[in-house]
Amino acid sequence: MQQTILSDDTVPNFTELFHDSPLAIYTCDKNGYINFFNRSAAELWNNTPEVGKTRWCGSWKIYHPDGKLMALDECPMALTLKQERSFGGSEIIIERPDHTFRTLLVFPKPIFNTAGVLTGAHNTMVDITSQKKQEEKQSILSAIVESSDDAIISKNLNGIITSWNKGAQKIFGYTEDEIIGKSVYVLIPYELQAEENVIITNIKAGKKIDHFQTVRLTKSGKKINISLTVSPVKDMYGNITGASKIARDITDQLQKEQALKQGAQRLEILNSIGKDIAGNLDTGYILQKVTDAATQITTAAFGVFFYNSTGENGEASMLSATAGIPKETFGKIGTTSFDELFGGKKIIKADNIANAVGYGKNNTHFGILNAQLPVVSYLAVPVTGSSGKVLGGLFLGHPEPCVFTTEHDELVMNIASVASVALDNSKLFDEVKALNNRKDEFIALASHELKTPVTTIKGYLQILQQNETGKLGQLFLEKSLRQVNKLTSLISDLLDVSKIEAGKLQLNYETFDLHALMLDIIETIHYSNSTHTIILDAAPAQALIEADKQRIEQAVVNLLTNAIKYSPGADKVFVSLASTANGTTINVKDNGIGLTEEQQQHIFTRFYRADGNSNISGLGLGLYLTKEIIDRHHGQIFVKSEMGKGSEFSFFIPSGKPAPLP
Ligand code: ADP
Repeated sequence: MQQTILSDDTVPNFTELFHDSPLAIYTCDKNGYINFFNRSAAELWNNTPEVGKTRWCGSWKIYHPDGKLMALDECPMALTLKQERSFGGSEIIIERPDHTFRTLLVFPKPIFNTAGVLTGAHNTMVDITSQKKQEEKQSILSAIVESSDDAIISKNLNGIITSWNKGAQKIFGYTEDEIIGKSVYVLIPYELQAEENVIITNIKAGKKIDHFQTVRLTKSGKKINISLTVSPVKDMYGNITGASKIARDITDQLQKEQALKQGAQRLEILNSIGKDIAGNLDTGYILQKVTDAATQITTAAFGVFFYNSTGENGEASMLSATAGIPKETFGKIGTTSFDELFGGKKIIKADNIANAVGYGKNNTHFGILNAQLPVVSYLAVPVTGSSGKVLGGLFLGHPEPCVFTTEHDELVMNIASVASVALDNSKLFDEVKALNNRKDEFIALASHELKTPVTTIKGYLQILQQNETGKLGQLFLEKSLRQVNKLTSLISDLLDVSKIEAGKLQLNYETFDLHALMLDIIETIHYSNSTHTIILDAAPAQALIEADKQRIEQAVVNLLTNAIKYSPGADKVFVSLASTANGTTINVKDNGIGLTEEQQQHIFTRFYRADGNSNISGLGLGLYLTKEIIDRHHGQIFVKSEMGKGSEFSFFIPSGKPAPLP
């Protein structure tokens, strides 16, 4: 054993030598009392021991390298004194009086006198705290690199790979041994090799490349989408010596993003055709929209929608719409039994029709091929009416095999169900329209047929009136004529309605004084009505307008007779007239039964009669005709009314004749 031999038992006299040494050194006697320490030791302990009084273990705690508290007799110095041999190179951690920690390598050695008897020991302490921290940091970093799922690679400025983690092995397939020392070009597809130059140029300029999305090659030659971050690596002098790369495989992520985008796009198409056709009642439009959407959404090369339609008179015909091919491709086709064609199936699909059952055997289902279309993939979905009958089908084709996916099946079935609701609605609308047309035809015919006999009756009654001398006879004739006049006005209202519906209501414009006309009307009404007085509240001396006099008279008479009719408990009706340069307004006010807000919304609709006046006769046509007359004069009609208090109707007629519509 190597020993330090001193000349006697005294403290060594080379104190001065060690005092300024950067190494922390102390000595102690055989009982462990410190008898010498240098400045570096005091700094390390952050404490100044009392020579001869402080033991080597001072007032600090000592720990094993793993952090466990060390018993004092286990300390390297205690062992040195006890076992009289050196324990050089032991690692310990000390906790100093201020509770800060230092990791030390200690080299305690016993001191013997010339007789070989132990007199004490000396110890050299090396502070390795910062190296330790660095080591720890390093090992954490290495662990992170190794455990990362991302590929973490480094290369030198010549593009030679210098490090390769497990993540890189997982993503690219090469082991560390296989790839280190190889050029990074082995990972870059041929067509993208120019990228490396750009990367290296940036790195040499000290620039970082962040999240660069590109494609790289795996060992098996597969191309993968990656997101690349490349940073310059510098040596201790700050010189750029290479680059570190983090590559993340984003193939899945991109696929998911793509799928999500596609899904959203499809939903949008579905949503928009739903909205578009739900409010539309035109069969042709619906067929076309649906065909376009189904073709687009499935990426079909062409789509056809065949649909059995029933006309106004119950005649059946086949309608069709096409996308991707001209409509004429199919010529004129008669109706088909789609129930038979689909045979209860919700979908008919062929990835390659050459292998499909029935292909080439005159199977009507593949009728789409009759048009000699290059169909290989095929998808057909029935469109069912509300009765449960299959009224048509959506047929989609593509010249390549396996084009239609299960997702397409779902989408087209959804489109078909949206289409069937819209087509049902449009069918219903067509039926209602046809019924309405028939009703209008009937009104026109009936009123025309009624007019001739009523005019004849009226003529004979008037002849009889001239010759009748008896009072009772005159009374009966007068009553009969009043009823006939009522009938005549009902018939002429009905005739007017049918003229309006047929667009045949003509206006004959002339210039006349509305004030004078009003006075005439009031006089006539007074003559035939004994219950109410019509009071003309205000009027200009003259109110010249250019309009159809007869129709304006009809409108005024309608308002006045209504005011009388619907104010059975009152005896007055108030009228006023106001003229400006723009036109004239007529106002008719009664203190009658009035109308609710809701009723006011409907009174200008033909055949509408408010509830609660069933004891008052009428057809619900007067206000409809009045509004039509005013509208055609480019005027406006208004109502103000309160239930139980009365109503006020007014209309405005512009002064001049309106310009004809373009
Ligand atoms: P008719 O009087 O033949 O029923 P109109 O078209 O002239 O038809 O009027 C439609 C409905 O409007 C009437 O049935 C009545 O309910 C309501 N109405 C019209 N004028 C008045 C009024 N002045 N006061 C209250 N209700 C009215």
